[in-house]
Amino acid sequence: MRYVVAKDSRDAVALLKGSDNARLLAGGTDVLVQMKLGLKTPDLLIDIKSIDGFSDISSEKNGFRIGAAVSGAQMGEHADLKAMWPGVVEAVELIGSTQVQGRATMVGNLCNGSPAGDAVPAMMTAGAMARIEGAEGSRDILVADLLESPGKTKLGKAELISSIFLPVRTQHASDAYLRFIPRTEMDIAVASAGVSLELDENGNIEIASVALGAVAPTAVFVPSAAEALIGTKLDEQALAACAVACEAACNPIDDKRGTVEFRTKVAGVMATRAAKIAYSRAGGLL
Ligand SMILES: Cc1cc2nc3c(=O)[nH]c(=O)nc-3n(C[C@H](O)[C@H](O)[C@H](O)COP(=O)(O)OP(=O)(O)OC[C@H]3O[C@@H](n4cnc5c(N)ncnc54)[C@H](O)[C@@H]3O)c2cc1C
Repeated sequence: MRYVVAKDSRDAVALLKGSDNARLLAGGTDVLVQMKLGLKTPDLLIDIKSIDGFSDISSEKNGFRIGAAVSGAQMGEHADLKAMWPGVVEAVELIGSTQVQGRATMVGNLCNGSPAGDAVPAMMTAGAMARIEGAEGSRDILVADLLESPGKTKLGKAELISSIFLPVRTQHASDAYLRFIPRTEMDIAVASAGVSLELDENGNIEIASVALGAVAPTAVFVPSAAEALIGTKLDEQALAACAVACEAACNPIDDKRGTVEFRTKVAGVMATRAAKIAYSRAGGLL
């Protein structure tokens, strides 16, 4: 196996193109564990941490650009990013321990392709865009459109993500992410929910987005749950309708960590609780 430090995106793309079984190394908290367990045996490991800009969070005119090698810890320390997208940051900060936080990236979480990846539902409801580098140059695509199946994204063989873009939002908007785990930390979500809301001046929900994690082969949007919230001040009826819609969208596996029935029920509970947090953060009064 070879280990190469990529000089820039073009170099990384060329290395990916020239290999049958390469893996990118961002934080390594998934890929190195998989290699140690013998689940992945790449012939080439391409370290992307030294590429210019990959470890930066930069403020752009219309939002924040977060480099593909930015760690969870870096995101948690960025006050402006945290103020604008608290749900995305709290989702990333749930990943692993303090040690894992110093390395794990939001992009690695997405590209590992786990249906339970914590950052993914939050990125989806945020309308996050991934900048993809390939042999033909760069393109931007919604994170939600990259999801394919467990362990797989729609990225091509010789493509990588260089950054994630989170758009600016109004003062009366916010988001939240919650997951259920059997332990207090360091566990994989049994069911999770991301909710993003935008309110009008009177506290009515104008725009809503709801996504669930760990209850289907990939994280999923639940448009009917979002619709149940729009036009309301998050009254009990709206919350109940949101929960029912979330339950209907679930197609989970049955395993020792949670039965189908349990995961389905909990998904609705997580979504309504996350909606309440997002609503308060956006300035709504419950
Ligand atoms: C102790 C421990 C606890 C954990 N807890 C959690 C948890 O609570 N929640 C959770 O969701 N996950 C958890 N994880 C899993 C892991 O930490 C996360 O998924 C993390 O976000 C992966 O990021 P990374 O930068 O380390 O990815 P890496 O391991 O570097 O890469 C992961 C995959 O993504 C690909 N990849 C990386 N960067 C790119 C890129 N720029 N473009 C295209 N493909 C890329 C790699 O080829 C690889 O296949 C845990 C892991 C450990 C070891």
